[in-house]
Order: sequence, then structure tokens, then C-alpha cells
Amino acid sequence: MAWERGIIIKSQAELEAMREAGRVNALALEATRRMIKPGVTTQEVDEVATETIREHGAKPAFLGVPGAYPYPATVTVSINDELVHGIPGKRKIKDGDIVSVDCGTILDGFVGDSAYSMGVGEITDEVKKLLEVTEKALYIGIEKLRVGYRVGDVGATIQQYVESFGYHVPREYTGHGIGRSMWEGPQVPNYGTAGRGIPLRAGMAIALEPMVLVGTPQTRVMADQWTVSSKDGSLTAHFEHSVAITQNGPMILTVP
Ligand code: MG
Ligand code: MG
Repeated sequence: MAWERGIIIKSQAELEAMREAGRVNALALEATRRMIKPGVTTQEVDEVATETIREHGAKPAFLGVPGAYPYPATVTVSINDELVHGIPGKRKIKDGDIVSVDCGTILDGFVGDSAYSMGVGEITDEVKKLLEVTEKALYIGIEKLRVGYRVGDVGATIQQYVESFGYHVPREYTGHGIGRSMWEGPQVPNYGTAGRGIPLRAGMAIALEPMVLVGTPQTRVMADQWTVSSKDGSLTAHFEHSVAITQNGPMILTVP
């Protein structure tokens, strides 16, 4: 599989195939959401996602993604200050944690990519607010995935909303086109200038993924060379859907 490609416009049939990959990806994430509670390890979360994907005759998309070393799991599980790309392992989820799970699924040659964050058990008002704002940022961004808007309109909408709460978006990690490859053009940052950037067209599919940091926009890559955390240790959250742009508006692909 090629990891990076330009913008590829999809046919109706191709978008329907992407919808199926997205559906399986959503089912895998739902299965993880149901089992996450204090005491569960991030490795166990990964196993549940893997089982669900395999049961549907699909394959994990993240496994083997090139990096400092090939990505070793089906999902990423990122906790609290960890923003994205946390590697599942022996770590136990605790009461009060923010757990962010990101998953990719390949079915019939197409990829679905989505993510959610959840609070575990008793969460603070601060955590609740962060989760609400980050999820809402995804949906107001999706509303801009329409013919007539540009990539900058999407980023500007997300950035302005997030920053209105005093939160921040990272600059180094962005949303992206998606299709037969997990990363296609265009790159879709969670920041930008309205009216600028590539015009959105029917047949594009975009993995839109607001990432939000409480403290500053700065991130750092941890010693495992995959996990990305907030530089100041502040809390973070991440939501993502793969979305098709159609003549009738945005169509979310990564729902059950
Ligand atoms: Mg993702
Ligand atoms: Mg993505």
C-alpha cells in the first residue's frame, strides 16, 4: 500500500466501498468504548479492536505504518497528556483518565480512519469541557466539508472555535484525504485562513481530526518514538471521522 498520494476524486461506487470500511472501523471503536474502564490495559483495548476488524473480514490499517519503526498495533491509545499515536501495552486505564482511541480499517482496498476520546469513571469538569469542545470542533468542521468551501475554511472554523475556549490546536499533525491510501491529499490542518487553500470538490474523502491541547499548541514525541504528548503535560483530546464530500453535503463514512 502506498502511504502518501495526491488528491484522488472518488466515484459513487468507491465512496460506497469506503462507507463499508468506515462502518467496520466504527464497529471496532464501539467495541473498545464498551470495554474501557478502570483496570483495563491498553493492550486489551487493542485486542478487542483487532478481533472486531478480523471478524468482518477486514484488516487493521495502522499495523506496519512506517515510522521510526513500523507501527506495532491496530489502534493507538493515547491517555491524558498523550495527544495521538500512543502504543497499546501494559498500561492500565485509571478512573478520571481521558482515553483517546484512534483506529484504521482496510476493507476491499479502502481505508476508514476515525477516533474518539472518552472520560473514564469520575471525570473533572475541566475534562468534560475539553471533551465537549473537541467533539463539537469535529462536527462544526464537518459542516464546512462542502462544495464551495476551501480547506482553509475548515481549519479556520475549527481553530476559532477551539481557541475561543482558550484551548489550542497543534500545527504538526493534521487531517488528510483518505481513500485506497490512509494519507492522500489534501492535507487538512485544524487551523487556517478562511477563503484560502484548495477548493473542496464532490468525490473528495477527508479524515477530519481536531486535536486539542489545554495548555499550549506545542507537542513532543516521547521516547517510544511514536507517542505524541503535549509539551507542557497538559490534557488533550482528539476526535476524527472520515467524511465524503458529495453534491448533497458531507456524508460521514465512519459510523456503524
Ligand atoms: Mg486516525
Ligand atoms: Mg487520520
